[in-house]
Amino acid sequence: MLSSLATSIAIVYSTSDVLPFQEMSSIMLEALQSPAQTTYWLISGRVLFLVINLLGLACFSYIVTKRLTPLVRGEHDFRFDRPWIRLERLLQFWLGQWKHPRYRTAGIIHILIFSGFILLATRAFSLLILGISENFALPDSASGIGLAYQIVADYAATIVFICMVIAAVRRIVFKPARYEVPAQYGKGHKTDAIFLLALIAFLMFSESFFEATRVAMLAQQGHTEFLAAFSLSWVLKNALSSASLPALWNLHRGAYLLDVLTFYFLLCYRPFGIQFHVETSLFNVYFAKLDRGTVKPVRWGVSDEHLDQVKSFGVKKFEDFTWKHMLDFYSCADCGRCSDNCPANAAGRPLSPRFLTIKARDYSFQHYPMFGSPSNGTPLVGGIYSEDEIWSCTTCGACEEECPLMIEYIDKIVDLRRGLVDDGNVPKSIQKALKALESRGNPYGKMEKKKADWTRDKEFQATCDVKILNGDNAADTLYFVDSITSYDDRIQAIGRATARILDATGKNFGILGAAEKDSGHEVRRFGEEMLFMALRDHNVEAIKASGVQRIVTADPHAYNALKHDYKDVPPVEHISQVIAREVKSGNIKFNPVENADEVYAYHDPCYLGRHNQVYDDPRDVLDAIPGLKRVEMSRCRDRSFCCGGGGLMLFYEPKEEQRMGVKRVQMAAEAGANVIVTACPFCMVNMEDAIKVAGMEGKMTAIDLTELVDKQISRESAKTGRTEQFAESGKCLTV
Ligand code: SF4
Ligand code: SF4
Repeated sequence: MLSSLATSIAIVYSTSDVLPFQEMSSIMLEALQSPAQTTYWLISGRVLFLVINLLGLACFSYIVTKRLTPLVRGEHDFRFDRPWIRLERLLQFWLGQWKHPRYRTAGIIHILIFSGFILLATRAFSLLILGISENFALPDSASGIGLAYQIVADYAATIVFICMVIAAVRRIVFKPARYEVPAQYGKGHKTDAIFLLALIAFLMFSESFFEATRVAMLAQQGHTEFLAAFSLSWVLKNALSSASLPALWNLHRGAYLLDVLTFYFLLCYRPFGIQFHVETSLFNVYFAKLDRGTVKPVRWGVSDEHLDQVKSFGVKKFEDFTWKHMLDFYSCADCGRCSDNCPANAAGRPLSPRFLTIKARDYSFQHYPMFGSPSNGTPLVGGIYSEDEIWSCTTCGACEEECPLMIEYIDKIVDLRRGLVDDGNVPKSIQKALKALESRGNPYGKMEKKKADWTRDKEFQATCDVKILNGDNAADTLYFVDSITSYDDRIQAIGRATARILDATGKNFGILGAAEKDSGHEVRRFGEEMLFMALRDHNVEAIKASGVQRIVTADPHAYNALKHDYKDVPPVEHISQVIAREVKSGNIKFNPVENADEVYAYHDPCYLGRHNQVYDDPRDVLDAIPGLKRVEMSRCRDRSFCCGGGGLMLFYEPKEEQRMGVKRVQMAAEAGANVIVTACPFCMVNMEDAIKVAGMEGKMTAIDLTELVDKQISRESAKTGRTEQFAESGKCLTV
């Protein structure tokens, strides 16, 4: 079969003689002309297609150059490090389409389209060259590889065509909610999306039609050529079997011309809308952020010591974005996955990450026009963004986790906040907290000397002695408590539970007491970089002076700050990691739960889960408690739903329809749980508050993992008094 196909293809386009069409139809073709050899309206095909190819490429180059203009004017961004890791991620997330199946139907459709495009790229190139060079085929059509490729390409074109139809039907008939554009964000892009789907479908059709007419003509001359059964080309060829040779010839030539014109139209049209991601996604994924939990520096290339020389902080106008963040705007496919997972959007806050991008992209298109000079420099906040929109984000990271194109939001939002802070545009309630942090080192404005008051509870002191590492005492482990656990009456219980667990497992630990200031985690994410630096530098000095070998904290925000925002401090662990290790080593054993009616659901705190990938340790601890029944909420692990935000979010009341925490406790109830376990003091505040607001008191309770462990731990088995040894990485070597 393959050899007959080889023979047929060798016959097709085998002559270099240019025969008039009338002659062809009358002599029953022995050979077909390639598009380069034929004429269109008395113009030689070779000349016509050379002009179309050159014009198409020139237009595309011009458009892309114009689109890149703002990127050249954007701020620096250091994205050229760790090329092998970037390459690996490119293979996983771009070529492997790793995130797409998170939305099954749309994901499968996208993977099929993407694979089709990759497979058809060679054929598309080959077809374009065929217009200027007869007999061109890549791979060589007479070879086995060429024949196999032809079959694969026929099926690929068919699958892409079908996917376009399905995608259009989904958009028109089923209308997935995440594609909708709420009125406040302007007009929808449905027409544009359908038009693009139609263009791609037409491209697949014209390619297949060109192939089908060629094979149909050959068939009429007695040459049988194999076409992939049930492919679009095969269907069309069979449909054309009774067409006359002159008609087929006209259709064949017309299909080629339309195919080339559609290809270039699509190529040049894409940079005007969501389909630009076809060109930019490869670069966007390669240059994507590598380090979770981090925040970009105020200015790449400007050290902390020289920050005071920076005239303007953050993003105020479009050109203050980095070139990579501008590339993000071009790379968005408008799929709506980010907003679909954004808790702020779900709670009705004035924030939808998708539209942060779309608005910036529209701004770029409008202010960097194809013709004429750019009109830049207009303020973004107050222009395309509102202040509320920028303050509504909890930096939970759900949008970034979901985006298949690795588009970043947190750094952009932090940069926009830095711009607002620099201009003094900070909500009043947050101003107060920031001032207290500046003067007292905590957002509550409480006295430093009261920092360790939570340890002075009489009942607690009778069970556990917490050392203050003030020079008189030494320890190898620092328990970094942070502000909320130190000062909030309810949350102090988490501090005491943590201390009792560390004590029960024989840790030689202490706290900094008055010498500890707020970790500054939220301060940094609220855009107050200089204040964050002051808090960080103070804490680093105090930690170093304490002489500890490692740090433990029960606060994921402090954990994230110490791990990612601080430098030169000992390794840090979240208490759930410590407990999980102790459980694994047999150092901790639990008593069975007493109430068999309790069903537990673990809520992943954003800064423990998504930002630091600690998903299993808290679950392993819960599963080690005998008799504990645990269920998973539908949104768990990397899809966890933010409780409403930690840190300074407690001091800011954004406009919202429903509290995020209320949504979260409802999710726990839907999963069949009546106890929410979390591992973050801020989650605890939000959850307990939400239980009251939702009227679920008595039906739902919230407990911190440390409180539960402290309650269930079998103290006889726990205390070993052993001395642990730690590697430089902070990993415990004594198991
Ligand atoms: S970080 Fe969270 S709250 Fe902020 S935009 Fe993304 S999903 Fe929404
Ligand atoms: S940012 Fe990413 S997830 Fe959001 S709409 Fe764009 S492509 Fe989709």
